[in-house]
Amino acid sequence: MKILVSDKLAEEALEVLRKEADVDYLEPTPEELLSIIEKYDGIIVRSRTKVTSEVIERGKNLKVIGRAGVGVDNIDVKKATEKGIMVVNAPRGSTHSVAELVFGHMLSLARHLAYADRSLREGRWEKKKLLGIELQGKTLGVIGFGRIGQEVWKLAQVFGMSCIAYDPYMSKEVIEKLGAKAGTLEGVLKEGDFITIHALLTEETRHMISEEQFSLMKPTAYIINCARGGIIDEKALYEAAKGGRIAGAALDVFETEPPGDNPLFELDNVYFTPHLGASTKEAQIRAGVTTAEQVLKVLNGEKPDFLVNRELL
Ligand code: NAD
Repeated sequence: MKILVSDKLAEEALEVLRKEADVDYLEPTPEELLSIIEKYDGIIVRSRTKVTSEVIERGKNLKVIGRAGVGVDNIDVKKATEKGIMVVNAPRGSTHSVAELVFGHMLSLARHLAYADRSLREGRWEKKKLLGIELQGKTLGVIGFGRIGQEVWKLAQVFGMSCIAYDPYMSKEVIEKLGAKAGTLEGVLKEGDFITIHALLTEETRHMISEEQFSLMKPTAYIINCARGGIIDEKALYEAAKGGRIAGAALDVFETEPPGDNPLFELDNVYFTPHLGASTKEAQIRAGVTTAEQVLKVLNGEKPDFLVNRELL
């Protein structure tokens, strides 16, 4: 069997593949990809390579497309399904890494770490201004209580926090079994001291946090988005954070990435990272190895564990 790895992949994952398959590790341009794809039974991508309908059409021998990560927006899944090509991914690979980044942001906001670093470098000693708060005893508000939302709650328990979670697709019983309080979106916004977003970006969740939602939050509350840009309305966040409607925010994801000259950069109480949620060595290895295993399973005629187009089962 012949597999094309067309984006950077962890060495550990390449080793898994090479034990069973003939592997080409290239970074083809879109044109090159179109001209070579016919040779391969499987392709593994991250987010750089676009597996378009044309690529799938030309991939006469293609049986599986692996995405070493979670999001499959760079793959034409509909076309793959029409052609009976399985799309597999590694949905749990970055769960812990994203949850830890959320904690990095929470601690940074609570103790003004990013601002303190900047102000010291600029020659100021603003000890009085930088009075912080503890996480202990505070309420974590989680919007979207899936894999990452639950992992953040797990970490929060070590800090002595309590949790109110909103997830319209999860029953009250399941949420409460996990030790959190099940709330409405309004409840999470009103009660949360640190509100963290872990929903998927859909038409329903686009701008789900906007002016009206900020108006419900405590003026002492912080909001963190390490899910997808667009769930928070950035213009509304700018007004809320600038005007003291909320205490501050942290964003790992943006409506447009890279965000360019975003007005939010003017604000001292909003912290940023450039979509680093899954950017840890461990997450890259986990996602790569899991995807390699899934692709080999499909090519060996076995049922994959993480199939995106489940209708093919
Ligand atoms: P998941 O599918 O396990 O959980 C998502 C949860 O959101 C589900 O429980 C779902 O029921 C819930 N949900 C759906 N619609 C909702 C709504 N309208 N309101 C509230 N909740 C809603 O996904 P996950 O693996 O936990 O990922 C969560 C988010 O993190 C996704 O947006 C994903 O794209 C993002 N992510 C970001 C990074 C990063 O680098 N920053 C890395 C991985 C994942």
